[in-house]
Amino acid sequence: MIDDLEKDKCTGCSACYCACPSEAIEMKADEEGFWHPEIDREMCTDCDICSDVCPVINKLQRSSNFSPPQVFAAWSLDENVRLTSTSGGFFTELAKAVIVRQGYVVGARYNERHLVEHCIVSDVEGLSYLKQSKYIQSDVGRSYEKIKDLLESGNDVLFCGTPCQAAGLHSFLGREYEKLILCDFICRGVNSPKVYMKYLAMLQNRYRSAVKKITFKYKGYGWNRFSTLVEFEDGRHYIKDRYHDPYMLGYIEHNYYMRPSCHNCQFKRLPRLSDISMGDFWGIAETRPHLDADKGTSLIFINSEKGKRFFELVKPALFFEECTFNEASSGNACIFESPVANPLRASFFRDLNNMPFDRLIRLYCRDSYSKKRELRLFSQNLKRRLIKALKR
Ligand SMILES: Cc1cc2nc3c(=O)[nH]c(=O)nc-3n(C[C@H](O)[C@H](O)[C@H](O)COP(=O)(O)OP(=O)(O)OC[C@H]3O[C@@H](n4cnc5c(N)ncnc54)[C@H](O)[C@@H]3O)c2cc1C
Repeated sequence: MIDDLEKDKCTGCSACYCACPSEAIEMKADEEGFWHPEIDREMCTDCDICSDVCPVINKLQRSSNFSPPQVFAAWSLDENVRLTSTSGGFFTELAKAVIVRQGYVVGARYNERHLVEHCIVSDVEGLSYLKQSKYIQSDVGRSYEKIKDLLESGNDVLFCGTPCQAAGLHSFLGREYEKLILCDFICRGVNSPKVYMKYLAMLQNRYRSAVKKITFKYKGYGWNRFSTLVEFEDGRHYIKDRYHDPYMLGYIEHNYYMRPSCHNCQFKRLPRLSDISMGDFWGIAETRPHLDADKGTSLIFINSEKGKRFFELVKPALFFEECTFNEASSGNACIFESPVANPLRASFFRDLNNMPFDRLIRLYCRDSYSKKRELRLFSQNLKRRLIKALKR
């Protein structure tokens, strides 16, 4: 039974929830705000299908001739797509190629409460909702069942999600579908929706206006600065880079509120389960400076023959250059490594219920607010700008 799985190992991928023939499983938020399957004992028939489809229990493996994968640095030739995407806009170009073939694209969008959920899109306009990284766990709901129906009716489907969600779908389907393209991303880990809502509440309180739109990794000040832009209903906006935005500090520098399974992710390995993986080509400026214009450069892994065939379809819409796996892995620790949980994580979550978010972060990320750090950031930034100016 699925509840034999230790809670800290469950990724909340929802494969068990979608597969249960008696609909005895519900995904419920725990005290940290992460979804976990809960079984209704009265409805459960002990069929054990939930454990059979769990990608963690079954340690899914895929054989591949592409291990290590074929690696590309790329970006969309459409400047608008590139600038409004998180990395180089590869995802949108891949999705467009599927939609042109009358296919369907499944990805994560914000709902009306600004929470994140997976949805299915069949036209180019719909892709604008899927674009951009949302640094919260997405709720896949019953997407896997809908995807199965679409595939059984002979449609092309592109699924994009975290590596554990891609594994959940693969496991739920139980067999290969030629028309399914599985796409995942290099994933640092997903954050608690409860913490994220606290962060939004803090901003709404400060600006006395409702949040209209959130853009993580806004590129107005460059791709490398990793800024967060929040727009409000009254026309004002908030913008801070990763070194000063409290949500990004707690996520990237201090590892306080990622899902527990993200600290020991079993999907960060080769060969990858998906046909294509994407990410940011961090560090590419070290070996190939001409590939970092601070507008976003996608890192692409081609992991299978199917992935290679699809990449061929997208190539005309991209600038691309083949690179080595070493270049990719040297700048991007999250390809293999899971971030280590902060030793004060439990205490952080206890205090979350009693303190406003900004006070909590000031207390738990104290060292990120020191004058010494500000000085270091200032001189780093100055150095970067000088080098850029000299190169020009
Ligand atoms: C939580 C998270 C952590 C990440 N960590 C890293 C990292 O450590 N290193 C790295 O190189 N890259 C990381 N990425 C990936 C990177 O930020 C880009 O999403 C990726 O490179 C694709 O960029 P793009 O420009 O091609 O397309 P984008 O337009 O950015 O494509 C976004 C795609 O990601 C999907 N997506 C967005 N948010 C979520 C979500 N919460 N859950 C599931 N799917 C989502 C969308 O459906 C869409 O398909 C992470 C992304 C997320 C969401």
